Amino acid sequence: MRFKHWIDGHACDPASDRWLDVFDPATARAVAQVAAGNADDVDKAVAAARRAFPQWSSAASMERARWLERLADALEARLEDFAQAESRDGGKPIRLAREIEIPRAISNLRFFAHAATQFASESHHGQAGLNYTVRQPLGVVGTISPWNLPLYLLTWKIAPALAAGNTVVAKPSEVTPRTATMLGELAADIGLPAGVLNIVHGLGPEVGEALVTHRDVRAISFTGSTVVGKRIATMAAPLLKKVSLEMGGKNPTLVFADSDWQAQIATIARSAFQNSGQICLCGSRILVERSIYPAFRDALVAQATSLRVGDPDDENTDLGPLVSQAHFDKVMKAIAQAREDGGNVLCGGHALERPGWFVPPTIIDGLGQDCAGNREEIFGPVATLQAFDTDAEALAMANASDYGLAASIWTRDLVRAHRLAAGIHAGVVWINTWMMRDLRTPFGGMGQSGLGSEGGFEAMRFFTDTRNVGIFIG
Ligand code: NAD
Repeated sequence: MRFKHWIDGHACDPASDRWLDVFDPATARAVAQVAAGNADDVDKAVAAARRAFPQWSSAASMERARWLERLADALEARLEDFAQAESRDGGKPIRLAREIEIPRAISNLRFFAHAATQFASESHHGQAGLNYTVRQPLGVVGTISPWNLPLYLLTWKIAPALAAGNTVVAKPSEVTPRTATMLGELAADIGLPAGVLNIVHGLGPEVGEALVTHRDVRAISFTGSTVVGKRIATMAAPLLKKVSLEMGGKNPTLVFADSDWQAQIATIARSAFQNSGQICLCGSRILVERSIYPAFRDALVAQATSLRVGDPDDENTDLGPLVSQAHFDKVMKAIAQAREDGGNVLCGGHALERPGWFVPPTIIDGLGQDCAGNREEIFGPVATLQAFDTDAEALAMANASDYGLAASIWTRDLVRAHRLAAGIHAGVVWINTWMMRDLRTPFGGMGQSGLGSEGGFEAMRFFTDTRNVGIFIG
């Protein structure tokens, strides 16, 4: 099976005629190939998107909304196929793909279809006269997305870009190209005008960089690692190109003695291990009030070891394999480093003896705050435990990170919760819950986790230029 580019409404071979292997994480075997794109493919896609722009951008917002709704309908009609494909490609449990990720991709398309019709310009009536602001689409925009939530994050970017009237060249992760290719096919099936949505596959340094530096690409919306995000920022800066960067995290989970932690232990474990910890929002540093530390630790270990690690296509599987050999090696190296740094591995900590890249939930305590295990993003099924005595200490530990993506606070004391929420260095804070998402809210990180926000009208603003018009009213 070969995954081709989707350019100008057609499946296209790569200009270079080179292909990359695509692996099944559950067997570690190459099962397909994906186009290894290059700058020529990006050029072709950008040219197609430029040709499509005048008509798409001048269409009534209702019409763009209808196209997004049609794409959502077509995706919904094939939800099961997409869920199977997503599960196979990234090794994620089928339940997760079917019940959360593909439905969320559908919601992204529907949400921004509505946003297209609700996005209004502002006006300011003052003494001198009236000002009104016109928001215009930028032109051709590029999106670069990661492998951990492939279609969910791709649609989170293309939907607002298209809703706002831009045409798009999307570069999915080369590790999980399957559902992006299928979305290209769906777009062609429903008759989306050619060139409005183009998909170019390939490696970051070849396709991603060509997209970022292309003179006709007006903005880049990126989700991925901090190291790549910084490189994109460096390349885009001299071109004065708009960038939105959603990057890594090392998120704290603060558990207080007065919380209902016994009842919430399954959610707290899920917040650490969902999708094998390969979600940027997973809580990987669990900070626990000392008086409940031993009881909480034992309960969390029991909960984590009860999670079923296994084949992604098994309905009962909670954790599938890690996505790739490279990522598996990175996670295993981080666990080995934690051992070397004196950490106690309370559960997990080894690969399963079977083909594929399976690592069970791993909980480590005994690491100092400055150890790599408490500082660096692992992005796997690995969480650390640390104890604190006071609210001030909990806050200082939560903020002892260069990242600032998400945090969760577990307490019944809402004054404390609000005080901590105001002090935590994170773009998203949850109180007594995790992953409660409302697509209208701003989403983004601070510090090394991000620049700019996605979500709701924030995303529509990112994908538009503003012009203010002032009228003198005598
Ligand atoms: P990655 O940075 O390696 O790759 C992300 C995308 O960038 C891929 O499509 C890749 O091909 C491309 N890329 C790589 N090098 C590039 C370059 N030089 N120029 C342009 N593009 C390039 O990240 P990943 O391993 O795919 O994903 C995991 C990372 O993503 C983790 O750090 C995770 O925290 C982060 N993430 C963040 C969020 C968020 O919303 N903040 C969400 C999901 C994942």
